[in-house]
Amino acid sequence: VLRLDQVRKSYGGNEVLKGISFDIKPHETVALLGPSGSGKSTLMKCINLLERVNDGQIWLGDTDITDPRVNRDQCRSRIGVVFQQFNLFPHMNVLKNVTLGAIKVHGVPKDQARERALELLDRIGMKQKAGAYPDQLSGGQQQRVAIVRSLMTDPELLLLDEITSALDPMLVGEVLEMVSELTDKGTTILMATHEMSFAHHAADRIVLLLNGVIAENGTPREVMDESENPKTKEFFSHFR
Ligand code: ATP
Ligand code: MG
Repeated sequence: VLRLDQVRKSYGGNEVLKGISFDIKPHETVALLGPSGSGKSTLMKCINLLERVNDGQIWLGDTDITDPRVNRDQCRSRIGVVFQQFNLFPHMNVLKNVTLGAIKVHGVPKDQARERALELLDRIGMKQKAGAYPDQLSGGQQQRVAIVRSLMTDPELLLLDEITSALDPMLVGEVLEMVSELTDKGTTILMATHEMSFAHHAADRIVLLLNGVIAENGTPREVMDESENPKTKEFFSHFR
């Protein structure tokens, strides 16, 4: 689904990504771990074409999305994205929030978008909230709505960037549960997270980013329990 080949990204003189290569296969859930400032969000932004790489390639299926001639909107419609902060528009109800991008940006017919949105909301038990405004929902419900919105165009890849870190601890579980369900259904996911136990049981693979390079790429067990790399052990020691 996704392949990164020697991706480099600098901000001014600060090289954040120093040659990142890994791939994500269909139906895989990959957890992207690393300390704060290690470049997880930067990597996600490069994949979503919010940032341009300085060097290297990113392949989405057969498309080199780092090719300057590529149709950016078309590439972006193939990727669903949810960020840490709830990105719902406060003045629009849930249904409008969920359907807007699909209709305006991706050209899905209105009726079809509406039908799809209600179906997705129904699946998470939130159909009756379709007319509610974001401030009438809990943070967890808002984040689940944001996930629903990201699924509207049946993306080939879902990018989740610390989607639970702004949440009240009480509400983290319901959002992670939704991610688990997507994982079980075979959605292809790249998620940056600090939720180590969730990464351990839900991810098929862990990619650990340290100092701009990939320190580890393996199963949760290989990376989190069995790695002999002192830097890896040091990183995980903070979460025990
Ligand atoms: P966190 O776990 O806190 O979310 P992160 O791994 O997502 O951290 P990034 O947000 O990708 O880290 O930041 C990586 C580095 O890039 C940091 O040193 C940050 O200061 C720098 N950086 C990120 N965005 C910009 C920008 N727009 N301009 C300049 N520097 C930036
Ligand atoms: Mg980040």
